[in-house]
Amino acid sequence: MAVISVFDIGGSKIASSTVFMAASGRLPSDGVSSIPTPVEDYAALLRTIVGNVPSEAEAAGVSIAGLVNPKAGVVRAANIPCLAGRPFREDLERETGKPVFLINDANAFGLAEASLGAGADHSSVFAVILGTGVGGAVVVDGHLLQGAGMLAGEWGHGPASAMRTGRPLPRWRCGCGQTGCIDVYGGARGLERLHLEFTGRRSCSFEILRDWEAGDAGALETLDIYLDIVGGALAGIVNLIDPSILVAGGGLAGNDKLLRALEQEMRARILTPDQAPSLVAASLPGNSALLGAALFASGELSKR
Ligand SMILES: [Zn+2]
Repeated sequence: MAVISVFDIGGSKIASSTVFMAASGRLPSDGVSSIPTPVEDYAALLRTIVGNVPSEAEAAGVSIAGLVNPKAGVVRAANIPCLAGRPFREDLERETGKPVFLINDANAFGLAEASLGAGADHSSVFAVILGTGVGGAVVVDGHLLQGAGMLAGEWGHGPASAMRTGRPLPRWRCGCGQTGCIDVYGGARGLERLHLEFTGRRSCSFEILRDWEAGDAGALETLDIYLDIVGGALAGIVNLIDPSILVAGGGLAGNDKLLRALEQEMRARILTPDQAPSLVAASLPGNSALLGAALFASGELSKR
C-alpha cells in the first residue's frame, strides 16, 4: 500500500491529507486539514508544504489552482503570485527528499471523478468545472490527457460566441491576458456580470439562479445568454473529443436545473443529438482534488 501525502493549494487555503492507496483501488484517507495559503511568501509556502509531509509518505501529490507544467515543475497561478518563476517541484523534492508530482486542480478533480466518481464506468470523460470561472479535464481509459503543452481541457480560454444576445458580447478582459474568453462569462462571476450587463441588476449567482427558477423575466434573459454561450462551448467540446459522459463540479454545478438546461442546449447543438452524452454532477464527497492528486502521484510513481 502506497502512502501519498496530498495537498490542494488554492488562493486562500491549502487543504492537506494523507491517502493510503490500497490495491483494491479504494482510497481511505486521514482527515483533511486546512491552512491559510501564504500567497506572497514563497519560503513560507515551501515550509507549509514540507512541514506537513509525514515521514512515512512515499511521495507527495500537489494540486494547484493554476497553470501547471509538471515536466518543468513550475506553476503560473494568478492567485498565488509568489510561485511565479519558481522551481516549485524541484524545491519541494529537495526539502522533502521525496518525489513530488504537481497537477492542475481541474485535472485532479477530473482524474478523481473519472476514476472513482460519476465517470467511473466510462472510458472517456470530460470534467467540467463551473466555479468562480470555468475549467476542465479530459480523462481517457483512466489516463489524464495532458497534451503537448499541458493545456488539454482548458476550454475556458478561447473566444466565446453567443447567437441570441441581439448584439455582440462585451469583450471583458480575462485573467489569461486575452479578452472575451469563455471563462469570463461561464463561471459564477461571469453569470453575475452578464446579469448586470443585460438587465442592469446586481445580484449574486445564487440569487440569479433562484430568480430564474421562479420565472423572473430578467433572470430568464440572462440565463438564455449564459446557456447560449456555455452550452455552445460544451457542444464544441463534445464534437471534438466525443466523451461518453461530462461530469460537472464547482458551485454552479450544484444547481440541477442549470445542468439539465446546459445538457439540453449542448445536445441541441452537437452533430448527433440522439447520441449525446449526459452532463451529470460530480459524485465524490469532500475534496476530490486531493484524491486526484493521490491518483496522479501514484500513477506517475508506478512509471518510475
Ligand atoms: Zn482567457
